[in-house]
Amino acid sequence: MTKLKNKVNAKSESDDVNTSQTLKTPENYRKALSKMKANIVKEKLVLDPCKDKELDKGINVISVSYEYAQDPQKKDFMTAKSPLTGKTVHRYNHIPQSKEDLEKRYEMINVLAKETFCAQRCVGSDALYALFMGTFLVEQDKTLNASYHKRFIEYLKYVQEKDIAPAGAVTDAKGDRSVSPAEQIEKDSYVHIVKKTDQGIYVSGVKSPITMGPYAEEICVLPGRQFAEHEKDFAVAFAVPGDAEGITRFVLSPEIKALEGEYSACHGKKYLNKEAMIVFENVFVPWERVFLCGEHQYAGRYADFFATVHRFSYCACKPSVFDLLAGAAALISEYNGTEGKYLFSDSKGKLFEFLKNSDMIKGMGQSAIKFAKQTESGAILPDPKYANLGKFISGEQFPKAISILQDMAGNLPVSLPHENLLKDKEYGPKVKKVFARKEGITPEAHYRLNELIRTIAASDEGGLLQFGTRHGGGTVEVEKATIYTQNLKKLQVCKKMAKKQAGIEGK
Ligand code: SF4
Repeated sequence: MTKLKNKVNAKSESDDVNTSQTLKTPENYRKALSKMKANIVKEKLVLDPCKDKELDKGINVISVSYEYAQDPQKKDFMTAKSPLTGKTVHRYNHIPQSKEDLEKRYEMINVLAKETFCAQRCVGSDALYALFMGTFLVEQDKTLNASYHKRFIEYLKYVQEKDIAPAGAVTDAKGDRSVSPAEQIEKDSYVHIVKKTDQGIYVSGVKSPITMGPYAEEICVLPGRQFAEHEKDFAVAFAVPGDAEGITRFVLSPEIKALEGEYSACHGKKYLNKEAMIVFENVFVPWERVFLCGEHQYAGRYADFFATVHRFSYCACKPSVFDLLAGAAALISEYNGTEGKYLFSDSKGKLFEFLKNSDMIKGMGQSAIKFAKQTESGAILPDPKYANLGKFISGEQFPKAISILQDMAGNLPVSLPHENLLKDKEYGPKVKKVFARKEGITPEAHYRLNELIRTIAASDEGGLLQFGTRHGGGTVEVEKATIYTQNLKKLQVCKKMAKKQAGIEGK
């Protein structure tokens, strides 16, 4: 363990984390980021992510997870006792062992998403969770003589001790989808092993888009799919410091800007989601941090574990997002006086859509916990079918929910005058006329609510949210395939039932 620390991240040794108290403060998280070697590129090199207006708002999101872990009211679900060290650690760095652990993980993500839309930290945490189960599987295979699980446990203890929030890098750039990884013109379309030495491996390739990539102290890399034998160089999993030699992190969607108005919504003004394209160029990874190296037959299992646990995380965050949509929709119809039946429209029927989706996704999450299975590794795995169903429902229903919100809000969210005009002595009284509604609802409140709806439904950030709900954690097709495959056994039973009812048993 000491060797690992000295070799791979000497910088972390000097941070201010009290070793008797493994929980990091938001301030120490920021300090750790500021000390990292500059390798983040926006339009040009960013010297300190904490001093960049947009990245700072992404850092605020991760800071909430650190802040909540210090809150006595939230400690029960934000922290856990590590079975590895006996110490209290952040729940994001704890591998769930029981249904109770899954319940608390669910609550943590749900509560964080209520505040931030997207907690962001789930991806790296789910990468740790998947690596725990994946490395155990490989180590059990006696034909391989691999000790990845023991190595990973040491790495996990390090992450727990330093309370690091790693990014999880799973999705490769993928290149031409019609040909295999080995046939790509650009070999770096998939992260792969370039060279092996006695000290470790060298890797190259591109992972993108990576959630919280620009403000992660560590990056955990996993394969995103199965590979054939001749593609074994792509079957690689490892962890590196975010500022390791040879890494460049490009900030994605630079057009998504921080909002600065007094009436701007919390999301945009205080929080933002920032993703990175991470380019690895001959990055050295010491053996202590290599968790899969060419065992191609297990790459798909790593990817599957990640997909299941991350889709379970979606089941926890998305009910909060649908609840926010429901709240905004209910309020705007109250403000506009369009509650109840209005011509052909029924606001209750529309609100039902949001509430139903929230409850259905929550139900899938709860079912994934109920039918979770203990794995030999000691970790518990949420039920894949229900985890996928929850994610599938959220991806399928989100665009419809946005459309209903647009319908209920009318055109005002995208027809707002500059907020400063409301405060202007001369123009204020004129501009406020457009916001006049019932008594008791101030023009400022009405403006703010419309601005929130604009941010959700008609901003760059809202677009990112819509794409993320669709594609984050895998495509709808993969989810469908998983749900279908999980139902194959049942389909045989269904056919028997139908045969019995039709009187064609044995035929
Ligand atoms: Fe977590 Fe949901 Fe954000 Fe994914 S989309 S990182 S599951 S909060």
